[in-house]
Amino acid sequence: MTTPSRLALVPFVSVDTMMKLVHRKGVEPMLIELAAAIEADFRRWPSFDKTPRVASHSDVGVIELMPTSDGEMYGFKYVNGHPINMKSGLQTVTAFGLLADVATGYPLLLSEMTILTALRTAATSAMAARALAPKGATTMALIGNGAQAEFQALAFKAICGITNIRLYDIDPAATAKCARNLAGHGLTLTACKTPEEAILGAQIITTVTADKQYATILSDNMVGAGVHINAVGGDCPGKTELHRDILLRSSIFVEYPPQTRIEGEIQQLAPDHPVTELWQVLSGTAPGRTSAPQITLFDSVGFAIEDFSALRYIHAQLPGSGLGQMLDMIADPNEPRDLFGMLQRARTIAA
Ligand code: NAD
Repeated sequence: MTTPSRLALVPFVSVDTMMKLVHRKGVEPMLIELAAAIEADFRRWPSFDKTPRVASHSDVGVIELMPTSDGEMYGFKYVNGHPINMKSGLQTVTAFGLLADVATGYPLLLSEMTILTALRTAATSAMAARALAPKGATTMALIGNGAQAEFQALAFKAICGITNIRLYDIDPAATAKCARNLAGHGLTLTACKTPEEAILGAQIITTVTADKQYATILSDNMVGAGVHINAVGGDCPGKTELHRDILLRSSIFVEYPPQTRIEGEIQQLAPDHPVTELWQVLSGTAPGRTSAPQITLFDSVGFAIEDFSALRYIHAQLPGSGLGQMLDMIADPNEPRDLFGMLQRARTIAA
């Protein structure tokens, strides 16, 4: 039998390995480093291949593929969104992804991305808020206290200096879970009974709920002047969180317009409604917040470049860490054209 070459063995980051990587670094330092990695890639946005993600919808959820490349590396993520899953004890969102070398097409990394998606989504939200939220913001309402929530809270603490989090979820058990998990992390936490109570005094409002419908988590009268809205949960056709009138009063910032117009809050607006691409704000070619009373809205849906940045970041953490299992994933005969010969020789070994 042939021995797989170094290139044919692909490092695999399991859920267990991802958790070790996070704990060795610390959650907040990792969120800060991830935000820096994502921002660096947003600043070189034109060098990426970009396409709206490929979505396969069903009555209960969606399965999506999210590819991109910078010409040197290629990455994709498989991700699902099934709000119904929670009722049967399953995650709403799960993901895994792959990074490959463009020069050979050989994979460089296979990784779990359920935890990594929560980290990169939170890092991206806080990166956007750092550019758009009112300066000196200290209080954030966090509406939707599910799997993503604690990551969002800690990213806004580490990256934007948020000290007070006002929690609300239609399910009080989710709020209790979130408050329990965030205790001891240096945040002042307030569990609220209504979304109206949650937004009191908040300069930033994060909505990160899961429901496969046009929901109204925030109505127009709830949003005052000067607020920054980080709308994370509306990320599919027919799945939104904000009343349309809020959008009409907001300056809207998006990741990749061709994808966000299909999936984001702005699916409720005319296809030519003006939006600003976040990468342009980060690279200094478009203004972010321009006045104190302005309502800024980050209409987050999650874009492939964020996953690419996150995979590249994890790939760079592996050397010398002793972590990552090598997978025999790519058939790699010593003589490249002798694939069948390799299979044939293995028969005697298998027997
Ligand atoms: P989850 O199912 O773990 O949590 C969702 C929470 O929202 C639940 O606790 C639920 O009770 C609550 N909720 C539902 N309707 C509500 C309402 N009307 N008011 C208040 N709370 C309500 O899901 P999750 O993994 O935390 O994901 C949350 C959302 O974020 C999903 O819609 C998911 O698709 C989206 N998401 C977006 C991105 C992105 O990049 N934009 C990335 C990951 C997840």
